[in-house]
Amino acid sequence: MKKEKQFVVIGLGRFGTSVARSLHRSGYQVLAVDINEERVQKFSDEVTHVVQADTTDEASLEALGIRNFDVAVVAIGEDIQANVLTTLLLKEMGVRYIVAKARNSLHGKMLKKIGADRVVYPEYDMGQRVAHNLVSTNVLDYIELSPNLGLVEIAAPRAFVGQTLIEAGLRPKYAINVVAIKRGEQILVPPSPTEKITAGDVLIVVGQNDGIQRLEELE
Ligand code: ATP
Repeated sequence: MKKEKQFVVIGLGRFGTSVARSLHRSGYQVLAVDINEERVQKFSDEVTHVVQADTTDEASLEALGIRNFDVAVVAIGEDIQANVLTTLLLKEMGVRYIVAKARNSLHGKMLKKIGADRVVYPEYDMGQRVAHNLVSTNVLDYIELSPNLGLVEIAAPRAFVGQTLIEAGLRPKYAINVVAIKRGEQILVPPSPTEKITAGDVLIVVGQNDGIQRLEELE
């Protein structure tokens, strides 16, 4: 059965196609839109509906029934004006949640100001994730929550194995909170402070970057 939330993805570059494809594979209804007929044709078998339209044109957006979608992803890249104008029109039409891709921080600020609920910087975000993973082989993923705060998925350092969360002292020593422990198929959330860390555990932690960095440096 199809899941209920409906998504529209605008702009079928590498980022947009990847988002649309993933949502579709997860069982959601996805409408994909691009101004370029060739891109539309190429993508036609991949998602629920693919339509050729210029999303900077209000009438075209109206005709697509855009206001009925729960989430819109604006993945137009190079043409910043088209990206901003599309976001503005979606906002005015009352789309509930808008995610927009920004090229740089000024562009991101502008998108926030006109009402994007979430701004993503795919190249910047991925660069950071790769860098954290290169610094420490324990780091499986890193997500920046704010410039100074991160969420990290990290293989439990050997030094912690056999210790409880209290004994490992993550909060007092690193100012880090463990929000979940992944153990095989099991996810302990929230983990008990007296939970013993075992070999192979993956810790999901939130903290300031300096604490995270010190944790990443542990073997
Ligand atoms: P990526 O890095 O994700 O590959 P990009 O940053 O190179 O993308 P572009 O290729 O510039 O981004 O834009 C993504 C898509 O957005 C293109 O397929 C383009 O045709 C489409 N697009 C651009 N302007 C509009 C518009 N006004 N309406 C709809 N689609 C548009």
